[in-house]
Amino acid sequence: MNDQWNPELLAPAGSLEKLKVAVLYGADAVYCGGQEFGLRTAAENFTLPELEEGVGFAHAHGAKVFVVLNGFLHDKDLVSLPEFVTKLDELKIDAVIVSDLGVIETVKKYSKIPVHLSTQASCLNIEAAKMWKELGVERVVLGRESTIDEASRIKKETGLEVEMFVHGSMCMAYSGNCVISNYTSGRDSNRGGCAHSCRFEYKLETENGPVNSYFMSSKDLNGMELLPAFLDAQIDSLKVEGRMKGHLYAATISVNYARALNEYRQHKKVSPETLKVLGEELQKISHRDYTTASLVNPAGPDSVYEDRENAQGEYAAVGVVVDSVKNDSVVIEIKKAFNKNDVLEFMLFNGEVVEVKAFEIYNLNESEEYDKTNPGTLVKVKTAFNFPEYTLVRRKLEALS
Ligand code: SF4
Repeated sequence: MNDQWNPELLAPAGSLEKLKVAVLYGADAVYCGGQEFGLRTAAENFTLPELEEGVGFAHAHGAKVFVVLNGFLHDKDLVSLPEFVTKLDELKIDAVIVSDLGVIETVKKYSKIPVHLSTQASCLNIEAAKMWKELGVERVVLGRESTIDEASRIKKETGLEVEMFVHGSMCMAYSGNCVISNYTSGRDSNRGGCAHSCRFEYKLETENGPVNSYFMSSKDLNGMELLPAFLDAQIDSLKVEGRMKGHLYAATISVNYARALNEYRQHKKVSPETLKVLGEELQKISHRDYTTASLVNPAGPDSVYEDRENAQGEYAAVGVVVDSVKNDSVVIEIKKAFNKNDVLEFMLFNGEVVEVKAFEIYNLNESEEYDKTNPGTLVKVKTAFNFPEYTLVRRKLEALS
């Protein structure tokens, strides 16, 4: 095995702000989409100037930026791709994530950007991986149906970099190749429009009569407990799903997996105690029940999430720090309202949490004091602590009004 190998935590960046949050909270790389050619049209996605800023920010912090071009494209969709690829090359992005052969061909023809094969391409075996390598792919993001053992063998036999999903929402279709959304909502899931139709309630005709069921909805992947297996197998990149999820998710996932990887880098192992503590942190964010899906054995009925969607987590992000006045106050952009005297938890970039009681809340020039806040506004909260920009502020949900 390779002594130079260094596992990468790859986090989702659904917006420029979330890119910065993920990087500051410890992601080694982020992936994001441009305005076209990806699979998440509902994410905010990046304009070219935003991408330029994001790449500059990530590189300044030692992190990489990958851009998804993983839609399955028709000829008319390919027309504007060369120009876009040329611009991505100029911006010095670190790789593109691609599933369509035509897109791979276009990227190789118009740029020198490394190509990562998207999970959408359903690469699940050594021979397929070798074929993709011949076509110029440097890394394969394996289909989510792969086990860690299979991934290890693919890596050893091909010499390719291997990336696997470690956390996030799952898709019940084979590596996302699915037209349920097209047929039920008229939205093309393979070109970025998935309506998550698999999460809907369906009426099933059974031999005992009709039943209502969420039988196609998967639990969420959580690979924290399997991290030692990922690391033993020297999987190159551990990928987190969730470009459409919020700031608290981006920060929580990044900092907790980063803490585990940092412990591994220092001690060549991650202790069970650390995995337990970090696993508890992952319970605090909004999620469906967790599963390890197909990481050890193929996913089965116990991976089905049979409940109605419940997006409520234990904590909610109430804001993001945008500025601070040394030893006096912190300026927060409000995401979710909180009140005077509420206890706010500031998540530091190393995962520690500092509690601050919001005794005094003001507008920016302190001409007005507030008893409660409103989403989308900026407020000043008095505190002697100094928190850097992009520090996430969370609040225990049961205490929210
Ligand atoms: S509808 Fe569900 S199964 Fe189909 S692509 Fe969307 S998330 Fe995947």
